[in-house]
Amino acid sequence: MPKPDAASPAPPAETPLLAYLRRCQRDFADDHSGEVAQYIPELGKADPDHFGIAVATIDGYVYEAGDTDIPFTIQSISKAGVFALALDLLGPDKVEASIGVEPSGEAFNSIRLRPDNRPFNAMVNTGAIACCGLIAAAEGDGTFELIRATLSRLAGRRLDVDEAVFQSERTTGDRNRAIAYLLRTYGGIAGDVDRLLDIYFRQCSVLVTARDLAVMGASLANQGVNPLTGERVFSGYAVARTLAVMSSSGMYDFAGEWIYRVGVPAKSGVGGGILAALPSQLGLGTFSPRLDQHGNSVRGIRTCEAMSEAFDLHMLSRQDDVRACLVADYDFRTVPAKPGRRAGEQRILDDRSGAIRVVELAGKLSFATMDYVTRRLADPAQLPDFLILNLRRVATITDAGMRLFTQMIESQIPATTTVVLAGVDGLSQVGPRMRQLAQAGVKVRAFPTYDAAVEWAEDQVVYRHGGFARGAGEADLSGQALLDGLSQDDVTAFARLGTRVAFEAGTRIVSAVEPTPKVYFLLRGMVSARSMTGVRITTMIPGTAFGELALIDQPRSADVWSETEVLCLEVGADAFEAFSRSHPAAARRIIRNLAVLLAARMRMATARIDALTG
Ligand code: GLN
Repeated sequence: MPKPDAASPAPPAETPLLAYLRRCQRDFADDHSGEVAQYIPELGKADPDHFGIAVATIDGYVYEAGDTDIPFTIQSISKAGVFALALDLLGPDKVEASIGVEPSGEAFNSIRLRPDNRPFNAMVNTGAIACCGLIAAAEGDGTFELIRATLSRLAGRRLDVDEAVFQSERTTGDRNRAIAYLLRTYGGIAGDVDRLLDIYFRQCSVLVTARDLAVMGASLANQGVNPLTGERVFSGYAVARTLAVMSSSGMYDFAGEWIYRVGVPAKSGVGGGILAALPSQLGLGTFSPRLDQHGNSVRGIRTCEAMSEAFDLHMLSRQDDVRACLVADYDFRTVPAKPGRRAGEQRILDDRSGAIRVVELAGKLSFATMDYVTRRLADPAQLPDFLILNLRRVATITDAGMRLFTQMIESQIPATTTVVLAGVDGLSQVGPRMRQLAQAGVKVRAFPTYDAAVEWAEDQVVYRHGGFARGAGEADLSGQALLDGLSQDDVTAFARLGTRVAFEAGTRIVSAVEPTPKVYFLLRGMVSARSMTGVRITTMIPGTAFGELALIDQPRSADVWSETEVLCLEVGADAFEAFSRSHPAAARRIIRNLAVLLAARMRMATARIDALTG
């Protein structure tokens, strides 16, 4: 499984999405309807023409159009972050017992509580103040700093407070004071009301930009991990529940309409901001202070509606073809196997080309895609001795995908089939249970590369059907594919040119950067070719040669290391020159064998590419 790149490359100046956002920004800037919030006097000073749109992707890129760096107060959008913080800090049981999750159907500042005297949800003022109170009961004086720091981590930068807005709301916020006293009557909060409201008013006065909201949205869309900083801010549980309440109650008494039309969890604030978060896709932040009758930013709503429609972002309108996760399914009857085996072994493999089935998987293994894979592998008659599952291009396995994967190996695949996982560093990369299964005797193996997995499976086939066990005995030179077709005398003459050399395990025999003009015939032991970065590309067993490109004066493509103690016959290029003068026909045959081997490698590569793309 590949590791994702840390940073995504800078996109071109104007990608289609950026062009779209700029167009929205230009078009909707003409809409001057709505009013700037006045009930907090300081908010009334906002410039009604400001308009910014930002989108943050979950790979951590931010698109910006218009006034995306103008600071404004976060207001009610803070409620989403504070609710998630409370869930993580105090545990869901405690929070869910004190604050409901039902839409209220009323304005954000409604004083009404549920029949059981709990607030309807944490996105309206009653619930948000109660939520603040829960945190304050646990954190005391540190409460506001914790909230500020948490919102900052969500945005990926330090956020500060607009003192003027804070003071303004503090002196005029009687309605919230009424709510707080009501809550205290029913035990929803405790302690000094004004001290608590100071925390709440400060939380609402945190300064953000449209860009910040987009990044905060992307952190929520990314299961709580800020895609710019890589920091986990909230647990997956807290994020999913927060997005749920945002879906049903994030847009005040417009929430039902919103989720019906736009279909993206969102939260708006009377400062003119809207934060939208589409799980696993993007965060959207808009800023425009003119509000409609519900208190939602007019241009923000229009932007979200347009975006959702243009790119089909509605969370309940998803399309995915589960079959796309299975990119190839073949055995070696159609795709030729890797060349370079000794003739006897190759015959065994040719006769049993159906003994190994390869299934190449890619992308995301989720509940739905993995269920599809389990059905593709359901027929025991189609499961040969070895089933290679190549996971090299699997980007992620979700928990549910992992669960089905593990259960498939544990109880669906018959014991007569060995499962060989390719492209993983070890069994534990495919979940903690996989190693336990292997220890418990379930036949499952892991190899870092496709080649290593195929080779191992082939060795098993060869071994089971009477071929040589890897590493045992000394290979006979005449079994070498490169020397195929030479007479015994020619082989003996050739062998005299070379020197027998032994290497300890872990020696670099051939270096790609300092090539020595020598070819090595492996007589005993095992070697592996590794790329410059140390990735094992392939392993070789007695009977095969390496460094053979020296015969045609070509640079090496990889390093070769001994995996075990190794015995080789080393033949210098100059010795081969001499051999071609004394035995010209045999030398021509060797060069021809080399060409055949290279052609076979090429055919194998082409066939596999074909199986993967056809
Ligand atoms: N501070 C504001 C209030 O409590 C937040 C309201 C909002 O953004 N909807 O009234």
